[in-house]
Amino acid sequence: EIAFYNDQFVDMNEKVVPIQERGHQFGDGIYEVIRVYHGVPFYLDAHMQRLKKSAAAIELQLPFSVAEIKELCMEGLRRSDMEEAEIYMQITRGIHSRQHHYPDQANSVFSMTVRRAKIISSQVRTEGINVLTVEDDRWKKCYIKSLNLLPNVMAKQKAITNGCQEAVYHDNGIVKEGCSSNLFIVKNGVLATYPALDGILHGITRQIVMELAKERNIKVVEKTFTLDDLKQADEAFVTSTNMEIVPLKQVDEDILPTERPISNQLIKAYQRKVLEKVTS
Ligand code: PMP
Repeated sequence: EIAFYNDQFVDMNEKVVPIQERGHQFGDGIYEVIRVYHGVPFYLDAHMQRLKKSAAAIELQLPFSVAEIKELCMEGLRRSDMEEAEIYMQITRGIHSRQHHYPDQANSVFSMTVRRAKIISSQVRTEGINVLTVEDDRWKKCYIKSLNLLPNVMAKQKAITNGCQEAVYHDNGIVKEGCSSNLFIVKNGVLATYPALDGILHGITRQIVMELAKERNIKVVEKTFTLDDLKQADEAFVTSTNMEIVPLKQVDEDILPTERPISNQLIKAYQRKVLEKVTS
């Protein structure tokens, strides 16, 4: 496992974050998670674009250029000697005596870890997972990949306590996304997912899945739908960098059909896309 803090590679367990780091004290920062397949970061440019968008949205100056960040990713990967990895990076507004408003001088801090990828078993991908629906109690700017994840942490814990693997946010009955994933339903052969508005994270995997579907002439609509629509869907799945595509077996008390032709088609298409990217 590899770690980087500010300007150097460090030991994963080394104590490096000063007490007055604003990421530490305020969650004042942003992050990205990138999956590495066979040594190749998947959709790295898309993640870099989103990182820039998150930084701009919180008026944070990136301490490195995108080219430098990409080079640090590759250097981290070389040092890790891992083929199947997960790169986590975060940028915070740096070190300053505690006050809410921004420090005068931009002194943002980049940090990164490279760790072994958590690979979802084919059994989970075949059987599907159970999800618990919860009221969305987050702020209104969930398109920013902010370090402030307390509501997400609590929602995931509630899901796990209730024997589920993911929590699904709804806003007054309108289904939005998972607490660490986006969500799609299939009804009568049409895929639907919540629109890319400010209230959800614009997932990279979500975007890839929409493109894969369109290439296969599967109709995709970005529209709102209700908890009842989700519970009565023909198929449903969540998407994320880590989980890729994972079907839903059960939503609260409702069991979804076990025949999942479209989900399975997209899972195969995703695997082919991974192969294409690592061999190109
Ligand atoms: N929504 C939320 C709230 C998330 O935390 C994540 C994972 N970071 C996603 C969606 C999925 O995004 P991506 O496909 O880019 O990993």
